Amino acid sequence: MLKEIDFIFSPSQFFNKEYILNSIADKCNISPGDIKNFRIIRKSIDARKGVKYNVRLQFVTGNDQFPALSGTFEFKDVSRSEAVIIIGAGPAGYFAAIECLLCGLKPVVLERGKSIDDRKHDIAKINREHILNPESNYAFGEGGAGTYSDGKLYTRSKKRGDITEILQLLNFFGAPEDILIDSHPHIGTDKLPVIMKNIRNKIIECGGEVHFNTKVTNLIIDKGIIHGVITSERVGFQAQNVILATGHSARDVYYFLDSQAVIMEEKGFAMGIRVEHPQELIDSIQYKRSGRGEYLPPATYNIVKQINGRGVYSFCMCPGGTIVNASTDKEQIVVNGMSNSRRNSPFANSGIVVELRPEDFYSYSEKKIFSGLEFQKYFERMAFQNSASGLSAPAQRLGDFVKGKISSDLPKCSYYPGLINSPLHFWLPEIIGERLRSGFKEFDKQMKGFLTNEAVVVGVESRTSSPVKILRDTETFNSINIKGLYPCGEGSGYAGGIVSSAIDGRQAIKKLKVKSL
Ligand SMILES: Cc1cc2nc3c(=O)[nH]c(=O)nc-3n(C[C@H](O)[C@H](O)[C@H](O)COP(=O)(O)OP(=O)(O)OC[C@H]3O[C@@H](n4cnc5c(N)ncnc54)[C@H](O)[C@@H]3O)c2cc1C
Repeated sequence: MLKEIDFIFSPSQFFNKEYILNSIADKCNISPGDIKNFRIIRKSIDARKGVKYNVRLQFVTGNDQFPALSGTFEFKDVSRSEAVIIIGAGPAGYFAAIECLLCGLKPVVLERGKSIDDRKHDIAKINREHILNPESNYAFGEGGAGTYSDGKLYTRSKKRGDITEILQLLNFFGAPEDILIDSHPHIGTDKLPVIMKNIRNKIIECGGEVHFNTKVTNLIIDKGIIHGVITSERVGFQAQNVILATGHSARDVYYFLDSQAVIMEEKGFAMGIRVEHPQELIDSIQYKRSGRGEYLPPATYNIVKQINGRGVYSFCMCPGGTIVNASTDKEQIVVNGMSNSRRNSPFANSGIVVELRPEDFYSYSEKKIFSGLEFQKYFERMAFQNSASGLSAPAQRLGDFVKGKISSDLPKCSYYPGLINSPLHFWLPEIIGERLRSGFKEFDKQMKGFLTNEAVVVGVESRTSSPVKILRDTETFNSINIKGLYPCGEGSGYAGGIVSSAIDGRQAIKKLKVKSL
């Protein structure tokens, strides 16, 4: 017999196998000896009234076996199949390529950045030597922004089946099985690169192609139909279908799309700063006790407030994490956050951002569609001008930022290139700065102790989602005016985050396949 059963455990009960076994036996009126095996298939932590683990268990008696949680996938030999050009090897591009292997199309992936093995040296240079390579950094290179991301796999996407398959595929390519169980799955920066490499190896093994250091600089379009792409080396790649999965940081792409009259529109996004607290402080606020002990993970938070008609909210919170430099060009400072699988740094960081609408930034560009992009650029450059040298980031103690006071010194911070004291309250645009300051006061009412001078705010968190949308048909995913061009992933403006971009990339191939049948 195989049975499923729900429990609520205290942290210490959750880690006590014998206690769990006896609990199952008690609840089901059987003897512990009758239970051949049990396993956890879903778990979440609820810290609202005393910390509890909500758990769904499966157990078997007699000769029954557990069904596999992982998925089985049949990848085809696509060496002689019709080619699909995929621009970008991020989650959207690589999952589009995986879908090609599953449905019998040949993916030809073109990636401007380097392979993981080469890219990792450029990442180290950012952190150790404070030097940025505009073509190989936290955003560009194999696996895209997903590779050195935090690897949180939550999504607001509603299609459970699609999400499960993405998690199963990540597990197939090397992610731990835990991601299939946790309600808030997390992989960690240390584990993601291997997964991306495994995906590439599978693409090549099945007869697909992956080209690194291959930057697409234009599309070959004739009478509204795409025929291929041109790269910076002036090499042409031809195909009837092109997946555009270049992410939201490839600003040059939006400009060449515009020159080819691909229809796009401006889009709202969010922008702000990254705040970092000692992890211990966040643990004590969230778990309502001092020290989280041996049974609890570093605490997280997720907070949303409405301030003067706009959302002010936490974004990509990284417990036990590190603030990183996610710039893609010289003379700009962009920050983001990541953590390793063990989430064991002594810091907790999160973006705190303000919702922006197109009317907030129209004055930043003569061309409406690029006004959000120009707004981002302006304040990323401002952050650079307020930094000292290299990749140091402008920062202020949180309490001082809210009071509008210059900090006399700064606390320790996880950001490797270093911080430079700067009056962010003064130079951030009012629409963002004022709301952040009010927002932090509101946050403190919900999380007592959050607003403290022990925390530091670091600028700027500007790349939350794309400021441009590449319009596509809702049904077919085809660009609304260029036949054969499929914009997808975060850069298209229709997805955001690892899982939703991966789902979007797979969907684009599924739609394209239906069309070609
Ligand atoms: C530090 C950090 C932490 C993050 N943490 C999380 C997290 O925990 N959870 C989460 O869900 N999301 C996280 N994200 C966001 C997530 O990484 C992105 O949402 C996701 O990677 C978007 O996928 P994508 O494939 O659409 O685009 P990208 O990942 O941006 O990939 C686009 C790819 O296209 C390539 N490219 C661009 N232009 C060209 C061109 N002209 N020619 C050829 N190639 C090109 C780029 O080099 C890049 O590799 C994080 C991001 C960062 C930077």
